[in-house]
Amino acid sequence: MNSRELFYRHMAQTSSFPLALEIERAEGMYLYDTNGRKYLDLISGISVSALGHRHPEVIEAVKEQLDRYLHVMVYGEFIQQPQVDLASLLAENLPGELDNVYLVNSGSEAVEGALKLAKRYSGRPNIIAFTNAYHGSSHGALSVTGNEPFKRAFRPLLPNVCHLPFGEISSLNIIDEDTACVIAETVQGEAGVVVPEAAFMKALRRRCDETGALLVLDEIQAGIGRTGKLWAFEHFGIRPDILTLAKGLGGGLPVGAFIAPRDVMSVLTNEPVLGHITTFGGNAVCVSAARACMNVIVRDRLWENARLQGDLFISQLNGNEHFRVRGKGLMIAIELESPEICKALINSCMEKGLLTDWFLFAGNCMRIAPPLVISEGEVLKACGIILDSVKEIYS
Ligand code: PMP
Repeated sequence: MNSRELFYRHMAQTSSFPLALEIERAEGMYLYDTNGRKYLDLISGISVSALGHRHPEVIEAVKEQLDRYLHVMVYGEFIQQPQVDLASLLAENLPGELDNVYLVNSGSEAVEGALKLAKRYSGRPNIIAFTNAYHGSSHGALSVTGNEPFKRAFRPLLPNVCHLPFGEISSLNIIDEDTACVIAETVQGEAGVVVPEAAFMKALRRRCDETGALLVLDEIQAGIGRTGKLWAFEHFGIRPDILTLAKGLGGGLPVGAFIAPRDVMSVLTNEPVLGHITTFGGNAVCVSAARACMNVIVRDRLWENARLQGDLFISQLNGNEHFRVRGKGLMIAIELESPEICKALINSCMEKGLLTDWFLFAGNCMRIAPPLVISEGEVLKACGIILDSVKEIYS
């Protein structure tokens, strides 16, 4: 049997229609399949490959760490230089109070840690989240995810979770003194890129301050430069009490983090001791990659390129009669009239060597989330292919 047949036979499938591209290698902005075809990557493995594929500084950092040690102990016991460096680098580039970093393996685990931390710190029972938010697939993260069809089959989930309409200021009164935390994506990703109004985010911050509820901002998808600022919350003039990161943080290796002020995070050390534990969290090789990735993003101010090229995408694609386009930086959605048209467009782009995708809770929207290092020429090429494909579909 060839790899394709073995893929369908022995690998658990998550849908009946995987893209099933067989990858040979990846470099910079491009993926290469086993038939020797080359694809310009507009999805970055879903917002992961912020520096493109196999960035030389990430590869170098990984190789260097491979020669020192791989796994030596569970998280939090030994002093490991790459972990300390990454935590320090994150703290240096965040608002002063967000100075304590818990390293984990994934976005879902970062959300789990953040929710547990908020409950333990506040001693309160309730969690508030928003409709159409995606926070992950583990039970806690799924509980705060705001899409009923995605959750229904897995109930019972966490109790005491309430979802409010994202963007509706009047509903924020439900946040009260029994609310441990409110969790929100700063810019919603899987909803099809929903950018909230600054007035809403400010009102949310204010209501959390009034009630003592912790504000957890999930920037697993929107953080690390993707929206045109290093942190998406900078667009709204607010700060979170707890921040979750993953995806782009690792430069292509699995790393997540939840970040909070030291006095908040310190509650995980007692009652119970070891209040959150992870064996692999902060794996030395993964965090070496993350340290290198963060270094490049901060040194080269890659959020500025994200803003520039994001604006170029929008200006090139705006005004077409068959779709609408929206986004922030390089977190962009093209909204089509139906999921069927969206699928046809994705397939047509793929045939022309352009890799895109749809969104989990917006099947009629096509995803544009390329590596932050995309060039002007590549944006123009991608837009040309998208516009040609749309023309073909409607001809
Ligand atoms: N939060 C957000 C905003 C996400 O986009 C994702 C992943 N799509 C997650 C959490 C979960 O991350 P992971 O798949 O690494 O568990």
